[in-house]
Amino acid sequence: MPRKLFVTTALPYANGAFHIGHIMEYIQADVWVRFQRMQGHEVHFVGADDAHGAPIMLKAESEGITPQELVARIAADRPRYLQGFHLSFDHWHSTDSPENVELSQDIYRRLKAAGLIDSRPVEQFFDPVKGMFLADRYIKGECPKCHAKDQYGDACEVCGSVYAPTELIEPYSALSGARPELRTSEHFFFRLSDPRCVQFLKSWIDSPGRLQPQVANKAREWLEGKGDQHLADWDISRDAPYFGIPIPDAPGKYFYVWLDAPIGYLASFKSYCAKRGIDFEGFLQAPDTEQIHFIGKDIIYFHTLFWPAMLHFAGPPYRVPDHVFVHGFITVSGEKMSKSRGTGISPLRYLELGMNPEWLRYYIAAKLNGRVEDLDFNPDDFVARVNSDLVGKYVNIASRAAGFITKRFDGKLLPPDAGRPVATAQWTTLALEAEPRIRDFYEEREFGRAVREIMELADRMNEAIDREKPWELAKDPAQTERLHQVCSDCIHAFRQLTLFLAPILPKTAERAADMLGLATPLRWSQLREDPPLVIKPYQHLIQRVDPKQVDALFEPPESAAGKAGAAKASAAASTGQTKKAQNAVASKEGTVDEFISIDDFAKLDLRIAKVVQAEAVEGSDKLLKLTLDLGTQQRTVFSGIRSAYAPQDLVGRLVLMVANLAPRKMRFGVSEGMVLCASGEGPGIYLLSPDSGATPGMKVT
Ligand SMILES: [Zn+2]
Repeated sequence: MPRKLFVTTALPYANGAFHIGHIMEYIQADVWVRFQRMQGHEVHFVGADDAHGAPIMLKAESEGITPQELVARIAADRPRYLQGFHLSFDHWHSTDSPENVELSQDIYRRLKAAGLIDSRPVEQFFDPVKGMFLADRYIKGECPKCHAKDQYGDACEVCGSVYAPTELIEPYSALSGARPELRTSEHFFFRLSDPRCVQFLKSWIDSPGRLQPQVANKAREWLEGKGDQHLADWDISRDAPYFGIPIPDAPGKYFYVWLDAPIGYLASFKSYCAKRGIDFEGFLQAPDTEQIHFIGKDIIYFHTLFWPAMLHFAGPPYRVPDHVFVHGFITVSGEKMSKSRGTGISPLRYLELGMNPEWLRYYIAAKLNGRVEDLDFNPDDFVARVNSDLVGKYVNIASRAAGFITKRFDGKLLPPDAGRPVATAQWTTLALEAEPRIRDFYEEREFGRAVREIMELADRMNEAIDREKPWELAKDPAQTERLHQVCSDCIHAFRQLTLFLAPILPKTAERAADMLGLATPLRWSQLREDPPLVIKPYQHLIQRVDPKQVDALFEPPESAAGKAGAAKASAAASTGQTKKAQNAVASKEGTVDEFISIDDFAKLDLRIAKVVQAEAVEGSDKLLKLTLDLGTQQRTVFSGIRSAYAPQDLVGRLVLMVANLAPRKMRFGVSEGMVLCASGEGPGIYLLSPDSGATPGMKVT
C-alpha cells in the first residue's frame, strides 16, 4: 500500500542566506524523502521562507527598502542552494503569501470560536522615537544583579541572570538609544493552559511512535511543569508597526511571527496543490495521510505544544502532525556553529569552490542517526571518508570491471548466478539479505547505520575481487569465461550498491543508471528484479576530494579569492577621494557596484598592528599564522600571504588589520581578524603599512 506523505523542513528566517545547519536539515529530509519515493510512496515535500517579524522589518528599514523587497532578494538566492545540493523540494513558498494570510486568519477564527483566544492588557516597553513596542532583544541596560552595562532585556551575558526588561537599570532602546516608556497594550493569547489543550497534548505526545522518546520526554516536562510552573498561555499578537498578517477585527494588531510561521507549511502545500491540481483539503483529511515535520532541537517547544494544539482545535480539514522528526545541531571540528561569530562552513562557498555536493550529502548521511544528537563536521574525517568509501570502495567496483566488459565482452553481462564457482558470485545473495536491514535503517533515519551496512557489503565485494584478480585473469586466454563471470558480478554488485545509495547520491545514481541501462526514476524494487545485461562504457563517476579544496573552504574568502579582497582594499583605501574617483575604481574593478555610506565605513574597526610572531602553517601552502600586537591585546590571524612573504621577514613590521571582523574557525585554528593586502590581476600580494610614527593599536580613519 503506497503511503501518502506530506513532508516539510523548518522554515528558514528570510533575513539571511542559508547556513550549513539549514543544509544539513534539508539533506536529512531529502534523503528520507528520496528513499520514500523509491519505495513507490506518494510524497509531497515542501519548504518556505519565514518572512515576517520585527527583525526583517528593521533590517529592511536600515537598508532603505521594503520588507517585501528584502524577502524577495533572499528568496531569489534560495534556488542556488537548493539545486546546488540536489534538494528535491516539490515546492518552495513564503509565509508572506495570500495562502498564509487566508490560513492563519482561518485558524485564528476557529480557535477564537472554540473559546481558546483571550485578550488582556500587557505592560511593555515602548520606544517613543521609533514609535513602536520593543521586543526584549531590542532593550538594553545595566544588569540588576551584577551591574554589567549594555545587557539585553531578557538575560545578562556576564553573570547569566535571567530577568524581565523592566528590571534593567537605565534601560535604553537598542534601536534609537531612547529611554523606553512603559505603556499598556491589549494582547491576544492562545490559551494553551486550558484543560482541553493540556489533555489533548498529553494524548498526542504519548501516542506511540509519534515522537522520538527524548523529544516526547522534553514535551511532557513542559506540559506537566515543575513545582508551581505550569504551561503558560501564548502571546500571539504584536502591535503596529509590524511586518506580518493582520489579526481579523483588531485594527493595528498583527499575528506574532511564530503563529503564522508553521502555518506556512500548509500555505506552501496549498500553493503547491493548486499548481498540481491536488485537492488540498481532501489530502489533509484522508485518514492515511501522514504529515511529517523535520526540525532542529531548538524549536521542539513550538512544534510539540503550540502547533499540534492549534491544528487540533482549529479542526478539519487541518490535521495534527503525525510525526515531528528532530535532529541535533552541526558542529565544526567540535565547535558549535554560530551565525553571529561567523564560524562554520559556508554552503555557498562550498559550491563556488566546485566541491561535489554529493560528498557533503554522503558525509552528513554517514554521520546522522534517528536520535537528537549533534553531528560534527571534521575536515580530515570528511576527506578520508569520502575518498575511502565513495571512491575507494563503491566506484572502484565498477571501474575495475567495466573496462573488461566493454572491451572483451562487447558490453554484455552474464546474469547473476550464485552457483558460479567464483568468489564474487555470492555477493548478490549477501546484498539481498542485507536489503531489509538497510531499508529499515533508512525508514528510521538511521542513515549512518545504513551507510555502514552498505560499505560493509562493498568491502566484501572488493575482497572477493582481490581474490579473483580480474586483471590477472585478463592475461590468460583460458580464463576468459571466468573473467566474464567475475566482471559481470562486479557490475551487478555496483548496480545494487547504486540503488542502496541512490537516496544519498541522486546524481551519481542517475549517471550510473544510464551506464547500467536501469530505468529511471530508480525504484527500490529494482534490487530484486532481473537486471539489464548490456552496459554502456564506463564514465568517470566521482572525483576524490582534494584536501586543498577543504583548506580553501576554511580560509577567509579574502585570501582565497584575491579579486574580492583587492576590491575591498581599494574601496577602503579610496574613502578620501571624490565620488568620481571612487566611480573610476568601481568601474575598473567591475566588482564594486554599490556605494556605502560613511556609517557603513565607520563600522570597520581598522587598526595598526605589529607582527610579533609569524610562522608557516603546517598542511597549508597559502597561510601564515600571525600573532599581532594591538597595543592592549594580541590577536591570532591566519593570512593567505605565504606565497609573498617569508615569516621571519614579517616579525616587527607594522600592518593594517580589521580588528572587528567576527572570529572565523579555520581548519588550523580560529582567525581573529584580517590583515589588509593589495593584489591585482597578476600574481603578487602586497601588505599595506602605515607611515613611520604610527604605533600598534592606533585607529585608522
Ligand atoms: Zn549580570
